[in-house]
Amino acid sequence: MEEYIDRVLISKEELGKRVVELGAEITRDYEGKKILVLGILKGAVPFMADLIREIKLPLAYDFMALSSYGVSTQSSGVVRILKDLERSVEDVHILIAEDIVDTGLTLKYLKENLRARNPLSVKVVTLLDKAARRKADVTPDYNGFSIPDEFVVGYGLDFNEEYRNLPYIGVLKQEAYEIN
Ligand code: 5GP
Repeated sequence: MEEYIDRVLISKEELGKRVVELGAEITRDYEGKKILVLGILKGAVPFMADLIREIKLPLAYDFMALSSYGVSTQSSGVVRILKDLERSVEDVHILIAEDIVDTGLTLKYLKENLRARNPLSVKVVTLLDKAARRKADVTPDYNGFSIPDEFVVGYGLDFNEEYRNLPYIGVLKQEAYEIN
């Protein structure tokens, strides 16, 4: 699998350190509040699993699965909900956990959809932010790393469903696109 990795962009150690920092920041900000951490399947799973253990507050978590219409590496902004929340969110502060915010179209749709359900608040924590590609007017409230406009894989992020289990964030070699 790793033969197709061109280079490591963010190491396992850097990821670990940043997740601890994000957890501490969120712990401070949400003291005394009832939080629902909302993981977006499937990419956010490793990040969310690590992050929730660094949030030193009582919390609940749930998942949503979204699909954007369009080719696999490009977002169209038209979003379909494949899996929805299991309960009402009127009494909680929602913290959306995302793997990456790219154009921001998915997140914009999701935030609007959630706000319509009247939660106490909706904020976003993303592991990665590719701000150069932003099309929608959304800014994550917490961001792990700002990255350049490159397609990355690992720590939950895939290419054709593979590479999600890499413990670091890497950039794929051109050959990887050609064999798939
Ligand atoms: P957005 O609507 O912000 O353009 O799309 C965000 C989604 O696109 C992410 O949740 C992720 O699934 C996918 N995505 C965007 N950039 C990358 C990338 O560099 N690598 C991978 N693997 N997925 C990406």
